[in-house]
Parts: sequence; structure tokens; C-alpha cells
Amino acid sequence: MTATLIEGKPIALDIRAEVAAKVALFQAKLGRAPGLTVVLVGEDPASQVYVRNKGVLTREAGMVSDEIKLPADTAQSDLLALLGKLNADPLVDGILVQMPLPPHIDSQAVVAAIDPAKDVDGLHPVNAGYLAQGIEALVPCTPKGCMIMLERIKAQVPKAEVAGASALVIGRSILVGRPMGALLLSANATVTMAHSRSRDLPALCAEADIVVAAVGKPEMVRGEWLKRGAVVIDVGINRIAKEDGKTKLVGDVHFASAVEVASAITPVPGGVGLMTTACLLQNTLDAACARARIKL
Ligand code: NDP
Repeated sequence: MTATLIEGKPIALDIRAEVAAKVALFQAKLGRAPGLTVVLVGEDPASQVYVRNKGVLTREAGMVSDEIKLPADTAQSDLLALLGKLNADPLVDGILVQMPLPPHIDSQAVVAAIDPAKDVDGLHPVNAGYLAQGIEALVPCTPKGCMIMLERIKAQVPKAEVAGASALVIGRSILVGRPMGALLLSANATVTMAHSRSRDLPALCAEADIVVAAVGKPEMVRGEWLKRGAVVIDVGINRIAKEDGKTKLVGDVHFASAVEVASAITPVPGGVGLMTTACLLQNTLDAACARARIKL
């Protein structure tokens, strides 16, 4: 068996086109475009690339993108004061503080200082609380993207139907694993959450119709662990060394063995990663519409 590939690019392109069309309607109704402000503290090279990329795609969708770059030694109080100003700015619909923050800044305090209505990363405790209660709110972008992938692939791969499925989420981070589990539960899956203290991961995988791996351990989940026909969503992005001294990106799932057992699988790169920014644009539009009390 060779699994169907769940590629992120066509789905992400569709979402971005849908967002751009609705942004034009928003502009026509309100005389302005939705605005996203991304705050970057320090000079982490990977974060700089992410922020630049988010800016390009935001503008491509017709939205206003503002990037605020602060030095690595910015005091926490100054960052909180900036967030206060952005919260009060009527032209700012979405605020995203790029993680990780320098170690002297308490990232929880920073996330909690963002107006939940502008929290396009969906990490504010209010939004996390809504999600835990199964109430629609701003949802973290990566798990939102995974749910959209499952939804889109199910016409082709019926085993991707979430309702009634046994779903295993490996990883329980606030950014990915926990919200993923909550979304799957809201969509009527029977959800098992695994983490570093779980006793027998292969046995848990063997029971799962849907496996979502969000661990940060290169190629940890082996094809031999999977139930035949499982649907595999690989969130992991890990850079490893190749024999020729160069590097390559791999997921948390050992793709070559998993593709022989699964009925559908996301590739790395080219899978979930592309969905995250598309969902950020979607969240920014949703936040703008909710703040303007309009439905498009
Ligand atoms: P975290 O490091 O925050 O969380 C990792 C989770 O994996 C923890 O819950 C940890 O358990 C669990 N874990 C670690 N080792 C094991 C193990 N041996 N068996 C089972 N569980 C284990 O990572 P993130 O959730 O932020 O990210 C996970 C991966 O997803 C990374 O590769 C990251 O790069 C990628 N990522 C990709 C995105 C995308 O857009 N595609 C976006 C965000 C992340 P415990 O809680 O017990 O420590």
C-alpha cells in the first residue's frame, strides 16, 4: 500500500485565495483592509524569516501588515506597554508576538497581555478556554490547519473522517498538541493524548485511525507502529544532517516506512507547515470581521 499524499500547497493556496476575496469585500464595506501587526523581539534568524514570510503573505492577501522589530534587550514592561497601544489601536485587528522570546521575558505574561479579540495565534487563556469548552473562537493556526487538511482529504480518503475515529495526538504543547486534541474532540473523535511520559507509544499508535505527531523528534514514529490504513498528520519540522554534510528537513514520522502502511500522510516539507500561515491570514480576517461585527 502506498498512502495518498496530503499536500499542503493546494489547500493553503485555496485558503489564501478565499481570504483575499473576503478581504476585498471587507475593504468595500469598511473602507479599510484588516490589519495584522507582528512583533519580533531580538534577531533570531529563523524568526526573522518567519516574520518576513508572514508579512509577504499578509500583503498578498490584501491586508495591512505591520512588523515591529525590537532589540533583544527590550524590557518586558516596554513590550507590555506596546501591546497595550496595539490593543487600543482600532486599525490593528490581529497581534502576533513571534516566539520564542528572549529568556528574560515571560512569554505567558506577554500572551496574556494581548486583547483576546486580536489574539490571532489563539494562545490567550481566554481563547484556549473557549476551545477547551468547545466554543468557536480564535484557534492556534497549526492545529487549525491540520483539521482543514483532514476535512479536505476525506472525500478521497474516507478514513480521514474525524467523527467517530480513534485519534492519537503525540505531544501536548500549548501551541500544537493540546489545541489539536481539543479540536479533534469537538469534531467527535475519541482522543488519546500521548507525551514523553506515555508508556507504550507503539501500542497507542496501533489503535489509532488518525495519528497527529507534534513531538519535535526526527522520524520518531515508525511505520511498523501504525494501524494499517491510518491517516497520519506529521506536524514535526526537524533539520537533520545528511551523509553528504548538507542538511534536510524531516518530520516526526519516519516517512518511508509510514507511507507503506498509512492510507494518507502529510509530507515534510510541503505538508502542515504551509497551512500555518494560511490559517494565520484566516484568523486575522475572522478577528477583523468579529471586531467590525460583520459576516462575509
Ligand atoms: P514542544 O517541544 O513544545 O512539545 C513537544 C511535545 O512532544 C511535548 O508535549 C513532549 O512531551 C512530547 N514528547 C517529547 N518527546 C516525546 C516522546 N519521546 N514520546 C512522546 N512524546 C514526546 O513542541 P511543539 O508542539 O511546539 O512542536 C512540535 C513539533 O512541531 C516540532 O518539530 C516543531 O518544529 C513543529 N511545529 C511545526 C509547525 C508547523 O507549522 N508545521 C508549527 C509549530 C511546531 P512532554 O509534554 O511530556 O514534555
